Amino acid sequence: MTKFSLTEKRPLIISGPCSAETEEQTLETCRQIAATGLVDVLRAGVWKPRTKPGSFEGVGLPGLAWMARAKAETGLPIAVEVATAKHVESALAFGVDILWVGARTTVNPFSVQDICDALRGTDTVVLVKNPMNPDINLWVGAVERLRKVGIENIGLIHRGFSAVGGIYRNNPMWHLAIEMQHRMPELPIIGDPSHIAGKREYLAEVAQKCADLNFNGLIVESHICPQEAWSDPEQQLVPSDLVTLLNSIHWRKEKVDKPEFVQALDGFRAEIDQIDAEVFDLLSRRMVVAESIGQVKRDNDVTILQSGRWSDIVDRILAQSDQLKLSKEFISIILNAIHMESISKQNQVMNAR
Ligand code: PEP
Ligand code: MN
Repeated sequence: MTKFSLTEKRPLIISGPCSAETEEQTLETCRQIAATGLVDVLRAGVWKPRTKPGSFEGVGLPGLAWMARAKAETGLPIAVEVATAKHVESALAFGVDILWVGARTTVNPFSVQDICDALRGTDTVVLVKNPMNPDINLWVGAVERLRKVGIENIGLIHRGFSAVGGIYRNNPMWHLAIEMQHRMPELPIIGDPSHIAGKREYLAEVAQKCADLNFNGLIVESHICPQEAWSDPEQQLVPSDLVTLLNSIHWRKEKVDKPEFVQALDGFRAEIDQIDAEVFDLLSRRMVVAESIGQVKRDNDVTILQSGRWSDIVDRILAQSDQLKLSKEFISIILNAIHMESISKQNQVMNAR
């Protein structure tokens, strides 16, 4: 049998309940999802790595049997999460087509290696979720470990990073997903709006963002009765709402060959490149002034930081945020970066021997 290809279709849509709970819930959810005609792969968690003990930790092997039945009935391939070598062996024995490594597993190279050792010699399709913490190297490392045991059919899942505060359950930190695409451009990347958003109301905007960043597909949790789900009740969709969500997403193409488009884009890109050059030239000049300030402070035996001066600068520029049409958050990030570089320059000057 030819192996499932992660790149044959864009968007690749994976859906199913967060957890397989009962045979009835698993099969009925999978039947309704398959009937939408919009989904390529069915998913369910049968072992649930929960942050706290005592939460529902998955039904284990019976869940695999239910998913195998869902596959036989619907003709759709099935995906489950694996966290140990034993999980891998059991999933493969039940004919699971795609395995995924969860965020709480990608963080741990020992666990990833354990999974890899069980996969050696197979040609399993494996999806690797980003680690909980924003450390790209752990994500890359998991892919490298899989490759070392001969796994070639690999994809990435972006599910956001552990967040404190913020409206979403996990912080998408989109720049890290982009960085990962840059580091491993040959790998398809699938967005997980369910675990990023954590709430149904934010699914559409997160899913659209994944599409706009040229992701290859989505993994979305769906349940016949989300409010009674044993895990992640607030982020799962009934299959009919899954249809609404999937139909609302606009999957734009990466590029078109139309000359007007190419010309317009080239023009704007030249403008952006010019502006970037000017921005960095200005920043460089600003740092030269900062060095001069460092010299004056050194010669007069004054500390780098004068209380009040920096908050005056921040307050003045933040007050212009409407005029500049820049968010306060963006201004703060830029100012902090400038301030750090400026302090470091002054520090070099003041402590030069
Ligand atoms: C899941 O997909 O159900 C899951 C547990 O996800 P994550 O590993 O991203 O938390
Ligand atoms: Mn979940």
